[in-house]
Amino acid sequence: MRIGKFEIEHLSEGVFEAFEDGSFRKIHSEDITGNASQKYGQELTARIGIDPILIKTGKQNVLVDTGLGWGLDKNSEYADTSNLKTNLDIFGLTLDDITHVVLTHLHFDHAGGSTFVGKQSETTATLPFANYFVQKLEWMYALEQVQTDQNNIGAHYELDEFYRLVADEKIVFLTDTKFELLPGIEIIRTGGHTPGHQVVKIQDAGETAYILGDLLPSKSHLNQYAMKLMDVDPIQSKKAKTLLLRQAYEESAVLLFYHSIHTKAGRLLKDVDRKYVLEEVQ
Ligand SMILES: [Zn+2]
Repeated sequence: MRIGKFEIEHLSEGVFEAFEDGSFRKIHSEDITGNASQKYGQELTARIGIDPILIKTGKQNVLVDTGLGWGLDKNSEYADTSNLKTNLDIFGLTLDDITHVVLTHLHFDHAGGSTFVGKQSETTATLPFANYFVQKLEWMYALEQVQTDQNNIGAHYELDEFYRLVADEKIVFLTDTKFELLPGIEIIRTGGHTPGHQVVKIQDAGETAYILGDLLPSKSHLNQYAMKLMDVDPIQSKKAKTLLLRQAYEESAVLLFYHSIHTKAGRLLKDVDRKYVLEEVQ
């Protein structure tokens, strides 16, 4: 898809079953309509897509979220499935070509692919020439969470490999609410889902798009103002989402989703009942 001078692509890792203990299982396309599976007595909470998003400016290549990162580790049982490397290859890019990584937040399903375990069992930055942009607040909260039992419930933080990036000074910790990453690409802190959750706004030649992370994971969350079970601060989620959607509607913006199975992106409109609807954009 094009937004002004920018080319934007979803880099889909596939469709996954998410369980209440925070684990994931990849499902094959032919099984997507099948019955939900049970695992160790764990309830399935959702079927979700996992789709990092690539923004090409012509000079730089920005990646928003890095997925689970399965298939990158040397011993991965998913070595033959799509991952950042194979997905970038479709667009003629390699991992070395990514110049900036924005992490909407550090939950494992958004940031797990930031590193992988290499041939000598060493932890390596997946995007070796990129800086990774993370809210300082998110990092502080994640550090706090990994020390509590709470971290094992639902979407959670796994920082073991992430410390490598911090040690190698690959992380840029943002403290401002708004930050211009590149001309036309802005990072906006929303909080809500997690204290340091951030979204990306892309603007050029009168066109606008938003990458909303877990503030709005899929089309089905459009008229639902907070995810009570998943948001750390549902009131802040509602506030941020209300203001952001109002703005996006005025701009006839395109919304891009990270967790959709079907509609991956669409232009924000309202129906006769003044409810938000999406006109799908490919
Ligand atoms: Zn999350």
